[in-house]
Amino acid sequence: MRHFYKNLSIWLVIALAALFLFNYFSKQPDIYHTVPYNVFLQKAEKGLLPEVTVTEDIITWETPDGNKFKSIAPPANDATSKLIAGKVTIHVKKEAKPHWFFQTFLNWVPFLLIILIWFFYMRKGGGQPGGKAMAFGKSRAKLVDPEHSKVTLDDVAGIEEAKEEVKEVVDFLKNPTIFTDAGAHIPTGVLLYGEPGTGKTLLAKAIAGEAGVPFFSISGSNFVEMYVGIGASRVRDLFTEGKKKAPCIIFIDEIDAVGRHRSASGGGGNDEREQTLNQLLVEMDGFEANDHVIVIAATNRQDILDPALLRPGRFDRQVMVPLPDVGGREKILKVHAQRTTVAEDVDWKVVAKATPGFSGAQLANMINEAALLMTRQQGHQITMDILESAKDKVLMGAERRSLIITDREKKITAHHEAGHALVAWMLPGTDPVHKVTIIPRGRALGVTMQLPDEERNSQDRTYLFNTLCILLGGRVAEEIVFDEITTGAGNDIERVSDIARKMVCDWGMSSAVGPLTFKPTDPLNGQPGQIMSEKTANLIDSEVNALVQNAYATSKKILLENRSLLEDITNALLERETISHQEIQTLVAQNSGNKDE
Ligand code: ADP
Ligand code: ZN
Repeated sequence: MRHFYKNLSIWLVIALAALFLFNYFSKQPDIYHTVPYNVFLQKAEKGLLPEVTVTEDIITWETPDGNKFKSIAPPANDATSKLIAGKVTIHVKKEAKPHWFFQTFLNWVPFLLIILIWFFYMRKGGGQPGGKAMAFGKSRAKLVDPEHSKVTLDDVAGIEEAKEEVKEVVDFLKNPTIFTDAGAHIPTGVLLYGEPGTGKTLLAKAIAGEAGVPFFSISGSNFVEMYVGIGASRVRDLFTEGKKKAPCIIFIDEIDAVGRHRSASGGGGNDEREQTLNQLLVEMDGFEANDHVIVIAATNRQDILDPALLRPGRFDRQVMVPLPDVGGREKILKVHAQRTTVAEDVDWKVVAKATPGFSGAQLANMINEAALLMTRQQGHQITMDILESAKDKVLMGAERRSLIITDREKKITAHHEAGHALVAWMLPGTDPVHKVTIIPRGRALGVTMQLPDEERNSQDRTYLFNTLCILLGGRVAEEIVFDEITTGAGNDIERVSDIARKMVCDWGMSSAVGPLTFKPTDPLNGQPGQIMSEKTANLIDSEVNALVQNAYATSKKILLENRSLLEDITNALLERETISHQEIQTLVAQNSGNKDE
């Protein structure tokens, strides 16, 4: 459509220019010799003029030898009588005045031309700073053509699970029709979430590069301008462009800038952002299976996104891009080290171990700093010493976050997580431990992940009690090993209190209290709770307390009985940062073997 208008305007300019020129030249009169009026009168009386033409007050004639003459008559003249006397043939003409409309139009031609030329100039300069005026509603997305993108999945290291999850998208983009013909459900939106610098943008680029499709990228903050409606129009433009280049990838970085939870923005709301978000939802819902456009968005604040964005048909596929573990860091370092020359003494394993909590971007930055240092020292190879200085440089520039993890913190976290894992492992009937990690995730310094064997619809008392034991395992391990407790278990303790109280008050799981529910006054919405006697309140408190103490004791017993296994798991965590179910199994087997000897 835009093409059509552009052509139309070009033809308009040409037509106007032609008209203008034509008008200019056609106004040029023939050459007449002007003759005084009295001379004309004499000639007329003497019958020297065979024929004249009268147009208003201008009289013109032509002599037989082809010369043209004219004479201007004064108002109220007696030319006619003289002409009649001289027997002259008179042609009377009315001056051909152009229609007033046409006249005005002609007067405006130069202005119109200027305006049109300016208009074209602006359009062309749309992307440049000087030409932004006309580019308000354009998406301003950067486009990387497949020929120019050399990023592939091999450039993305250390986040194998995320890579695995997006491979399907690559396959689809490579060969969309096979999938759609088979009636397969194709994802329209993929949300990549994780800490800054973990390689989300890189991964999205790699998907495009691997599939050989164009890659549109734009940041969410680019949508939000001060003028209402601009963001929405940019979104529309972006998707129109995208559909033209399909199959392709549209990458929206910092989606939280537009996709923040609508109520989270505080009172009143932000009209512009909301309009933009709505437009985005409309566009995504409008996708047809054969549009072959996949939207990839990235954020590090997945928790504040509007739930509407995550509904089926929108960003229903969510891929976590975690900070790399020690093995991942080693791989990332190696990928980036390919760009420079590295000395023989460099052991990437050692470097990876010395950079806990580093993101991929920080590691890339570290290699870059090392290369700079090497050049400045006029060296030819990156050495361990250079890498050490480069690391300090990156750390100094790092934001003050939980990022810089001291050795002691790391040790405590490892024991804490090992405690959770070991208690979970030893108690019968709990969900199997899937993975344990001491890589920070959001506010948590480490995570012990359990995955149920099957879906659970209801939880029995034993299961809940075991959960209490597992949750307390972290704190107990800290206490056993360091004889000291930290704030790291704050979240665990909160959940323990919550579950224990519900067991007694909501689920009737305490025999002393009996199968009754007790709703205390809700401090949040102020709803008055059940009225209960002080005796009951005390009973509830002591029952909750007993439950927790019991769980604590169980947890402590397990950990004390398996002290050496606790150390083994801790050491494995310190060594590898993430350990799997399989690895714990091996450690348990080795340990029981050792005991027998
Ligand atoms: P994010 O989008 O998650 O903030 P980026 O993709 O912009 O992070 O990462 C910035 C740079 O850091 C990348 O261009 C790349 O050089 C490096 N990087 C980050 N993660 C990785 C990784 N997993 N593998 C290789 N390089 C990485
Ligand atoms: Zn914990």
